[in-house]
Order: sequence, then structure tokens, then C-alpha cells
Amino acid sequence: MNPPSPAAAAPDPQPGALHAFAGQVVRWQRAHGRSGLPWQATRDPYRVWLSEIMLQQTQVATVLAYYARFLARFPDVQALAAAPQDEVLGLWSGLGYYSRARNLHRCAQQVVQVHGGQFPRDAQTLQTLPGIGRSTAAAIAAFCFDARVAILDGNVKRVLARVCGFAGDLAVAREERTLWDLAQRMVPADPADMPAYTQGLMDLGATVCTARAPACLTCPVQPLCTGHREGEPTRYPVRTRKLKRSAQSLWLLQAQRSDGAVWLQKRPQQGVWAGLYCLPVFESYQALRAAVSPQVSLQESAPFLHVLTHKDLHLHPVGAVYAAGSPAGAGEWFDAGRWPALGLPAPVRKLLEG
Ligand code: SF4
Repeated sequence: MNPPSPAAAAPDPQPGALHAFAGQVVRWQRAHGRSGLPWQATRDPYRVWLSEIMLQQTQVATVLAYYARFLARFPDVQALAAAPQDEVLGLWSGLGYYSRARNLHRCAQQVVQVHGGQFPRDAQTLQTLPGIGRSTAAAIAAFCFDARVAILDGNVKRVLARVCGFAGDLAVAREERTLWDLAQRMVPADPADMPAYTQGLMDLGATVCTARAPACLTCPVQPLCTGHREGEPTRYPVRTRKLKRSAQSLWLLQAQRSDGAVWLQKRPQQGVWAGLYCLPVFESYQALRAAVSPQVSLQESAPFLHVLTHKDLHLHPVGAVYAAGSPAGAGEWFDAGRWPALGLPAPVRKLLEG
């Protein structure tokens, strides 16, 4: 967009270039962007918010079915707020990243209790609600209320960093703030263009300016794009710090009765799989063995890896068949008709279905 000097981390686009960029994105979105998705046919902040939360870390194709099921069960924010957490987590089951579902529920309760059942109209107040970050707040305000506020999720950071040739390290908070400022200066002058502009940026990031293979030849903002002009768009965005990962081994007691019932415990509200139903979890085989009656024989299965955002979990399933009685510790037998509807961690569901 604006030829930066090689060392420039914060280019300073001219107002004319900003205007041209926003116009191109809006025109392209209206003609070629994604359309017809159920959450695009509404300005209801409840529906837009629900879709934005579901779309974080989940593909559109997967979200479609969950979105329809959620709305059928919870048609408005009041219905969601009044539901038991277990039911919300159960409906979320399979989407992963359950903190989203817990925050969704808490957010609905705050909208009802603090805001009289109406979502706030401005991005700043939206941001005070559980699970709504700056970019999600901006998306809701732009889509529903034409607010002139910039979104900047991971995909949009990539698009704007390439277009502007933004060489600042986004792992540094100051640089990220600079990109936010730049993003804010790029929004259209006309508030009525905000929904198409916001959707257009999302569409560009998801379908054209992808991480590894940007389709520059067909990109609507190619004439304005610094990354393309320099010939190496994938050098943007710059992010040096990598996520710190840890690893943990856990043993899962898969206690099952011959009628198919499984023994499940509810996890604490903090930590891995918070608030979900789960097979009893132990930090060693010895701890698991000690918790189970010596009369019960145990069957170890092959361990497998489950990758969380910050952690690799090495899971060791240990089977035990119960004719009568119960494994030690708090828990409950769930028969085969009940456990599929519970909020279960993805690897536990896979084990039980397997
Ligand atoms: Fe991305 Fe290429 Fe378009 Fe620039 S021209 S925004 S690098 S797809």
C-alpha cells in the first residue's frame, strides 16, 4: 500500500490509499465475498455474537450445524442465560475449546442481569463481557450497529500486515498496538459500509490471503499490497515469540458396565477440561490402581496424544469392567442413552465411541 523503507515497522499510508483499500474490500465483498451464511442474514447481536464465538478456532462448515442446534434450543439470550451449564456444555460437545462455551453462558447471564437482556451497542462496553475480546466486540458492533471500529483477529492481522508491509514484531505489544491503530485508520468513512468491510476482511483472510499460499493474482487489493509488490508476502506478519508448550501424562479409568453404562466424574471448574464430564483422571498408573478395588482387573490400551493449545497430553486409557458396584470417588454411572448428550472432552468422547 505504501512503500516502506526496509526497516520501517509502521508504515504511514496516505488517506487516499486508506480510502481506496476500504472501497476495494467493500466492493469485492458485495460481489464475491461469502454470503448466505445464516448469521449474515441478521443484525441481531445475540445471533451475531453466537456465530463469532463459534467461529473462533472452528471452520464454517462445522459451525453451521452447531449454530442451528443452539438457536433451536436457545432462541434468545434469556433462554441461554437460564439454562444449566451442563446443558450448554453438552450442546457444545465436539466443538472443543470449552472455555468458549463457559464464557458464552456467563456472558448471556451478564447481558440479562447487567444490561437488561440487551447487548451493548458499543465495542468498548461489549469488551467488558466474558469471552468477548477487542476484535469480537468490534465485529459485533460493526455488523449489528454499523460502528466504525476495526477488527483484528489472526487472519486480519495477516492481511493488513501484508497490505501495509508492516514489519513490526506482533509478539511485541507495542507493535501490535501500532497495527491496531493502523487498522482503525483503514475502516471506511461511511458507517453503512462497515458490515461489508468487516466481512470482506474476514473473507480475504480465510479464502484469498491465506497463511502459506496467498492467491495474489486474484486478490482484489493486489494493486495496493506492499507484500505482493515486494515479491515476498509471506514474510508478513512477523511474530518471533513462539507459544511455550508443556507436556503431561494422564491415566484415564474407562470403567464400563456390561449394559454399556460408563462411570463419569464432573471436572472442577478450573484446569484441564473444566466443568466437563470425564473419565476419572489420574497422574500415574499406580494412583489409578490404588483407587480401584483390587478385585477389579485392569486392561491398559495403547496411549495416544491429544494436543491442547499450550499442552501435549499423553493419555493412557485403562479399561475396567464392572458387573456390580462402583469405582472409587465421586461420580455416576451414565447409561448409553445419556452420556452422548453430555459435555465430554473430545478424546474421552472418541474413546467411548471407539
Ligand atoms: Fe494477500 Fe497477496 Fe492480496 Fe496482498 S495481494 S493481500 S499478499 S493475497
